[in-house]
Amino acid sequence: MYKRVLLKLSGEALSGNGQAFDPEVLAGLAKELKEIQQKGVELAIVVGGGNFIRGKMLAQMGMNRAQGDYMGMLGTVINALAVQNALENAGVDTRVQTAVHMQEVAEPFILRRAIRHLEKGRVVIFGAGTGSPYFSTDTTAALRASEIGADVILMAKNGVDGVYDSDPKKNPNAKKFNSLYYMDVLNKGLQVMDSTAISMCMDNDIDLIVFNMNERGNILKAIQQTVDGTLITK
Ligand code: UDP
Repeated sequence: MYKRVLLKLSGEALSGNGQAFDPEVLAGLAKELKEIQQKGVELAIVVGGGNFIRGKMLAQMGMNRAQGDYMGMLGTVINALAVQNALENAGVDTRVQTAVHMQEVAEPFILRRAIRHLEKGRVVIFGAGTGSPYFSTDTTAALRASEIGADVILMAKNGVDGVYDSDPKKNPNAKKFNSLYYMDVLNKGLQVMDSTAISMCMDNDIDLIVFNMNERGNILKAIQQTVDGTLITK
């Protein structure tokens, strides 16, 4: 069983019923995370913001890319607060730390403090990505996992149970990989994370598990290394 884990939640993983985020999805997630925290697992979360804004898309519509990316980062903070609220409703002690400072709503990102929170059993939620435009929250997950010394990144997917050689939603014959090396992901151009994030995980020798979070109990199974997903290693 992994001891310190970093869970990457995309913005879309929190959404449902055509809403930016679905309170039922959040409550279910919180229940699952509470069980994990009670088992003594140290849990950090990086939240995405794709349910609100992606800077790249705004740039395609003519907006300044950096401006769009800052808007995207603010979206991740909204999600971080939503996840915090759901966890606290479930009785889980949490802290949100943001890479763009906004001290009225959250702590600034301070590595040593984040580690101290984890050691005390608090769930730490990282918002605002890396704080820099042109990056993604996948890269943030790789960065924060490296910084906090996480044993693994849990890449929770919305309805997809691992990495395939082609899109399983479009190709019924798509083949799933049970395990992969980072080099294969880069060479084959597999859609797991962006290449910056993959390179960072590879260089820092962090395991990555891609799995379907819509199946209840799968996050714990991923931590216990029994989930039916894809394990990616150096
Ligand atoms: N973003 C950024 N820098 C970061 C992380 C995120 O500029 O370090 C912006 C970027 O515009 C991105 C958006 O925030 O598209 C939302 O993050 P992401 O697309 O990674 O969210 P997800 O797909 O995981 O929901």
